[in-house]
Parts: sequence; C-alpha cells; structure tokens
Amino acid sequence: ATPTALMVGTGRGAQLGVLIKGPEVLERTRRVNTIVLDKTGTITSGVMSVQSVAGDAPDDALRFAAAAESGSEHPVARAIVDAYRSAHGEPVAATDFTTTAGRGVTATVDGHRVVVGRPGLVGGALPSALQTAFEDAEATGATAVVVGWDDEARAVIAVSDTVKETSAQAVSELRELGLDPIMLTGDNESAARTVAASVGIDTVIAGVLPEQKVDAIRELQASGKVVAMVGDGVNDAAALATSDLGLSMGTGTDVAIEAGDLTLVRGDLRVAVDAVRLSRATLRTIK
Ligand code: ADP
Ligand code: MG
Repeated sequence: ATPTALMVGTGRGAQLGVLIKGPEVLERTRRVNTIVLDKTGTITSGVMSVQSVAGDAPDDALRFAAAAESGSEHPVARAIVDAYRSAHGEPVAATDFTTTAGRGVTATVDGHRVVVGRPGLVGGALPSALQTAFEDAEATGATAVVVGWDDEARAVIAVSDTVKETSAQAVSELRELGLDPIMLTGDNESAARTVAASVGIDTVIAGVLPEQKVDAIRELQASGKVVAMVGDGVNDAAALATSDLGLSMGTGTDVAIEAGDLTLVRGDLRVAVDAVRLSRATLRTIK
C-alpha cells in the first residue's frame, strides 16, 4: 500500500463523514468479515423515553431516580431526568454520586441512599409485584430498571427507544459487503430481540456487562473471525479497543470515540458501510 493512496483514502473518508485515526487503519478493514453492533445509541437513536413507573410510591421513585441520574450520560438516565423535568422542573441535588458502566448509578438524595439500575445493583430479590412489572416491561421490548432506596427495591421504570431510520438499510448493505452482523448489548434479551428483528439481525448476544463485551469479541476472534465493532458508550470502549477495527459513533461518549479506529461523525450506521466500501476501493487502487 502506498502512503499516498492511503492518505487520499483518509481525505475522502473525511468528506464522507468518517474520521480515520491513521492511514494504516484502512488496510485493516480489508480482512474484516464480522461486524458487531451495539444496540442502544448505535442501532437505536439512544433517545429513550419513560413509558411507566410501577411501585407503591411512583412520584418519589421518579424524583429520587431523576436526582440520582443527573450525573449520568446514559440514555436511560437522560430519559428519567427528562421525564421528571418536563413534569416538575429541575431534579433536586444529589451527593456521593457513583456510576458503574453497564449496571447503573447510586447517589444520596434527601438523606436516602438511592440506587437505579439492574436488579442486581439494588440487591436482594424483587418483591413479586415489581418482578411482574419488570418482566412485563421487558416482554414489550422496553428496558426496565429498578429504583431502590434505603436498601429496598421500590419501583420499576420502563423506558423505550426508537430504531434509527437508516439502521435496517445499513444492516442489509453490510451483509451485501460480506459482513456477518451480530448484536451485542447490555440490555435485556427481549428488548434486544425486538430491535434485532426490526433491522434484520439474527444473532444476538444480550444482557452482557462491559467486560463480557470484550470476552464476546475475543471469542469471535478465537473462532477465526476478523471483527469490526460499532459502539457509542462508555460500556463499549474496551470492546472497541479489542476488536480488529473499532468504529465509534461521533454522537457517542468521548471514551468510546478515543477507543475506536474510525469515527462515524453523524452517528449513522450507513456511514459504516461507506467506510468499508472506501477502504476496499482505496486498497484496490493501490494494488
Ligand atoms: P447497551 O449495551 O445496550 O448500550 P449498557 O451496557 O449501557 O447497554 O447498559 C446495560 C443495562 O445496564 C441497561 O439496560 C440498564 O439496565 C443498566 N444501566 C446502565 N447504565 C444505567 C444508568 N445510568 N441508569 C440505570 N440503568 C443503567
Ligand atoms: Mg450504546
């Protein structure tokens, strides 16, 4: 590969909306045969909205959850803060905020220790009414999170997302380019399958923690696949760095952008298709 042709490819990438970390990255896309796609914020818009709040004290739950989530950039957090804000204004202040990627947040609000996230983060078994609300929400394809305070699970908030208009077409074009699409998500199996079916993806790996996203990439590589990954979140950063070619959504978090080899400026999956086509065309010119 001549440096000049690769430089030209890099410049053409910028015009298409693909920022390429270095000319050598284009060469790596040649052998890629598998493309792993994060769900939230990558296939979907990542702009979630609250569908329902179940529990004995739903108003307190939303107030505490919004305060605790104010410090998080996660789409679930934004949905909860927005729902509270549009009804009541700014959330109250929270202190001692901590966030665990792929799990949820904890913070102190009005003297209560508040937890919002996966059931395991809240701890203990869910009371049966909340367990039912949780399962019902997931069965509809929503993302369900538990709100707990003072060491007890008290509410379930269901949030839903919308699939980006361009995602289905992008998936079908990726297939045409010979790339096998796989969805890899921290979200629940049911929400994942609903979105996967709507964009034409058959292989789904759901419910994984950020470190398990890395394991999933390594397993694919161990089975001989050359893996590109597209992601946007803090929870995707390690997996993007592990994959043979990391594509980050320009609309995503800074950590994910730093971890990728390519940045898709507009956050549109069709730009991933353009990136693969461009690298192949560039490499053909060189040979
Ligand atoms: P994805 O892989 O789809 O981008 P994540 O790994 O970011 O999903 O999140 C997985 C799950 O962890 C979410 O579906 C949610 O249950 C929980 N979670 C992560 N961050 C938060 C948060 N800030 N608030 C509540 N729940 C969260
Ligand atoms: Mg994501």
